[in-house]
Amino acid sequence: MNRDAVLEIIQSTDRFDIIVVGGGASGAGIALDAASRGLRVCLLERFDFSSGTSSRSTKLVHGGVRYLRQGNISLVRDALHERDLLLANAPHLVRDLPFFIPCYSRFEKIWYSAGLSAYDILAGRHRFGRKTVWTRTQSSERLPTLRTESLRGGVVYHDGQFDDARLNIDLIYSAVRHHAVVLNYARVVALSKGESWLVERVKFVDDETGQEHHVSGRCVVNATGAEVDDLRNMDDPTAAPIVACSRGSHVVLDASFLPGQTALMIPKTPDRRVLFAIPWHGRLVVGTTDVGIDRPAVDPVPSDEEIDFILTTAGRYLTRAPTRGDVISTFAGIRPLVRHAHVGSTSQLSRDHSITVSPSGLLTLTGGKWTTYRRMAEDAVNQAIKLAGLAPRDCVTRTLTIVTSSPSTSSSSHTLDPNAHPCAISDADVVRFARHEFARTPDDVLARRTRIAVLDPARALALLPMIAHALARELNHDHAWIKLQIARTTNLINRRRITPA
Ligand SMILES: Cc1cc2nc3c(=O)[nH]c(=O)nc-3n(C[C@H](O)[C@H](O)[C@H](O)COP(=O)(O)OP(=O)(O)OC[C@H]3O[C@@H](n4cnc5c(N)ncnc54)[C@H](O)[C@@H]3O)c2cc1C
Repeated sequence: MNRDAVLEIIQSTDRFDIIVVGGGASGAGIALDAASRGLRVCLLERFDFSSGTSSRSTKLVHGGVRYLRQGNISLVRDALHERDLLLANAPHLVRDLPFFIPCYSRFEKIWYSAGLSAYDILAGRHRFGRKTVWTRTQSSERLPTLRTESLRGGVVYHDGQFDDARLNIDLIYSAVRHHAVVLNYARVVALSKGESWLVERVKFVDDETGQEHHVSGRCVVNATGAEVDDLRNMDDPTAAPIVACSRGSHVVLDASFLPGQTALMIPKTPDRRVLFAIPWHGRLVVGTTDVGIDRPAVDPVPSDEEIDFILTTAGRYLTRAPTRGDVISTFAGIRPLVRHAHVGSTSQLSRDHSITVSPSGLLTLTGGKWTTYRRMAEDAVNQAIKLAGLAPRDCVTRTLTIVTSSPSTSSSSHTLDPNAHPCAISDADVVRFARHEFARTPDDVLARRTRIAVLDPARALALLPMIAHALARELNHDHAWIKLQIARTTNLINRRRITPA
């Protein structure tokens, strides 16, 4: 796991079978799929693993109730199947969560009840709870902070919840256990063809040293999320864009706004989106929005309008309406949605994934969702094997356990504990994150190896000097580095907070 050793392997390897660009859910999934089939894989990520959209999701492992409403049965059924596989393969990070849909008329109750029965039927032999219907009294007893004016009761269905960045890191760790070669802070800047017509050579910059390196592979896979078009343009400057982007934002509140372990699901907000209020690691995550954007930003943050919209909408359903002063932190992610020429607005675009192969053989995986990352990776690796002319090998990830570097999964403070925000971290944890999970900066530790930056920013700032010193000792950095990292991480943590109006 030593960075110098990884760079040495990259330099001394004549040709990998697959080079993956991007270390989010898609890239990490591909690396694990390919490595567990016995292929030689190299994965390059420009920042930290999971620093893109994959650490900024709503944290649901779900079939997608809203896609059921759109009549996209096969998408829902496939995702429900993947939901089951993920619970089986990463039980330390995924759990069953009940969702309450408030109903204000008899018709609504019948409508949602019928729809969610269909959801259960599609899930088949599942390990998540079944739909139930609550009366108005049951609803107010079980959800005491729910506003009850005009409420007729509600319908409860079950889906999965997970820790997105932790799963991403564990996928990377699992891939390495299967001999994948992975490197973060390695920015791909150029692609070139080999003797054949295929893209084979990748130039990247090690952003820690500024040095350029080259690596060759039989197939290059573009898993750069919202940036896929940039990489496609490195292959072919005339390639037309294939994704449209939108921003989705969340706010993190104290759990007292919705105590207990049942999430709230509002199926239709004034802007026709779904709003979730979800207990997570001892906090309440509320979102999301859908705002079309021209260019994906690095480290996007929600606009004031998005924050106000989330707070106002949540306030319609909760006895205590949250205000800006109640917001502990915020986070925003970019949705890369596969373009269809005939569709105008981003919320109508497909959430299904697409695999595109350019004339020079660059394979681009885009769209889809976290829940289906495994299936997306399986499809991409199947294609890559054909494209590279490799001998066929079966995918094994349906039953592959996703492992974690934590010494004891059951007692780890960084697994998905629904009741507590895991904000205890020791010097030894920091060393483990650096040695086994490629943490290079304090933000890597606070925002993705743990979620302290989002769950408790004040605590994160208090822990920052200890983490910076521990990393500096482990990675041989000097005092100037410590000072720089403390300033940089303070700035990042504060960006995710808001000032009360
Ligand atoms: C607001 C929101 C909520 C969501 N909620 C859910 C949910 O609850 N459940 C669910 O199943 N799905 C959800 N999704 C979808 C899910 O989060 C995404 O489908 C998934 O995270 C996309 O992963 P990715 O690897 O394709 O992209 P990313 O995570 O963005 O990864 C792409 C990576 O490529 C890297 N990269 C870019 N350019 C280069 C380069 N030149 N060199 C090297 N690396 C590069 C980036 O730094 C980045 O880390 C949500 C999405 C959004 C936006």
